[in-house]
Formats: sequence, structure tokens, C-alpha cells
Amino acid sequence: MARNLDASCRLCRREGMKLFLKGIRCIGDKCGFTRRGYAPGQHGKLSRKLSNYGLQLREKQKVKRMYGILERQFRRYFTMASKTKGVTGKVLIQLLERRIDNVLLRAGFAASHAQARQIVRHGHVYVNNRRINIPSYLVENTGLIEIRAKEKPIKNIRETIELTKDWPKPSWLDIDNQNLKLKVLRFPEKEDLQLPVQEQLIVELYSK
Ligand code: SF4
Repeated sequence: MARNLDASCRLCRREGMKLFLKGIRCIGDKCGFTRRGYAPGQHGKLSRKLSNYGLQLREKQKVKRMYGILERQFRRYFTMASKTKGVTGKVLIQLLERRIDNVLLRAGFAASHAQARQIVRHGHVYVNNRRINIPSYLVENTGLIEIRAKEKPIKNIRETIELTKDWPKPSWLDIDNQNLKLKVLRFPEKEDLQLPVQEQLIVELYSK
């Protein structure tokens, strides 16, 4: 699958905020954005006023990067959201949050989307007793998710849980760290997001 290989810290600096793309390594003073909180490149330090289109574009790029998704797939989510009953922007956010890789990250079983995707691809994740190895799989609001794996991957996941134990956990998930299980209690809402998103700007951009 295609991936965005731009250096993670450059992406945060481009979006002007910490996106926590390197997981646990984002905490502490080695963070690229903390050290150089301006856009990358020769003119990064110059402050520019963005046009309306520029604001919309940056918001879309930011959200794509937050979830580690490329343009074509992101566009598919938007099309799906626009065909679903409800407010398009809200549905879009819900679809992104419901991805199984994102759910593992929110639960603290992984420290980054990249790590969560690896856990899924290696076949350690079961949803309602069915093995799922596609990171974009969308969980339902009745999903029971379990990690089943051999000793070494389990040890790694337990170490991650220990490292992420102080991270805020979303109320739409019921997390059982001991048994490496979690239940989806409801679909996520915008208020459950950990980083600010102005989804309306993305809707405006794609509706042109
Ligand atoms: Fe972004 Fe900082 Fe993490 Fe680098 S270390 S990916 S700048 S949050």
C-alpha cells in the first residue's frame, strides 16, 4: 500500500502543530516541532496570510496526515460521508476514527498509526471473533476487539500500554488493558477527537 514517506516532523511543522506521528517519541524535548516550530524549507520562518482556499487545503492535509491517509483514500472517505445520512463533516470524522488502526491507537495499544497498522497487518487483531488484517477496517458500535498473538508481540503491546497509560482515553471505548480487549460503546463524535479539526473547511474544499 502507498504510504506518505515525508519525514514525520516536517509534516507537523508544515501544519503548524504537533500531530504525534512518531508515537511515544513525540513526547519530550526531541520533538521537531518543539525545537523548530516553523514551517520547513527556506521560507518557513516567514509568516504568510493564507487565502480561504489555502486554509481549506491545509485543514485537509492536516487531517490526512493525522490519520496517515493518502489523497485517493481520503477522497473515498469523503464520498462515502457525503452519501451517508447526516452532516457530511461529522460523518467523515466518524469514518476516520472508526478505522481499526485508529481504534488501537486511541486505546493505547499502539503509540502511533504506523505501529497500529503493523499490529493489524500481522494478524493479531480479532473483531467479534473474526481475524481482521486490514488497517482501514471500520469498527461498528457493537464491536468487541481482541488482541491474540504470541508472546513477543503481546509483550511489545503491553510495553506500549504502559508507556501510553497516561494518555487521555476516549469515552466511546471500554478498554480492558489486562486482557487486551476493548469494546466499542458508541460511534465517536467530534468532541472525542484529541486534536482540533475544522471539518467544515474540508467539506467546502471538496464541494467546489
Ligand atoms: Fe510531530 Fe514532534 Fe512527533 Fe516529530 S516528534 S512527529 S514534530 S509531534
